[in-house]
Amino acid sequence: MSETHEKDIPTIHRCPCPECRREPDGAVAREHRAINRIVACTDERSRRLVAGFLARLYGHGGITLLARITGLDRNTIAQGRRELDQADPLPPGRVRRPGGGPKPVEIRRPES
Ligand SMILES: [Zn+2]
Repeated sequence: MSETHEKDIPTIHRCPCPECRREPDGAVAREHRAINRIVACTDERSRRLVAGFLARLYGHGGITLLARITGLDRNTIAQGRRELDQADPLPPGRVRRPGGGPKPVEIRRPES
């Protein structure tokens, strides 16, 4: 009796980009799926950092690209990218800085 339902796996966002639709098994689509797999199993803060890091790797247009791949908010990704450069890590368990920024950054849940 060991059914392996994928119930405990969080919903993985599916990238809607043209490459993924045209060639679902291509290298680009595999890469985008891998990114979304990582994003799906990280908490809010790690998600920002991973997306921010990848956006930086992609260079120009990276935030737009990552927003499309992951479904995360562009502000969230931009914030994550900034956080990569911050020398003072938040204490463990803290996801946000207290009272930082003019308005709270909304995390869009991929499954909504
Ligand atoms: Zn894609």
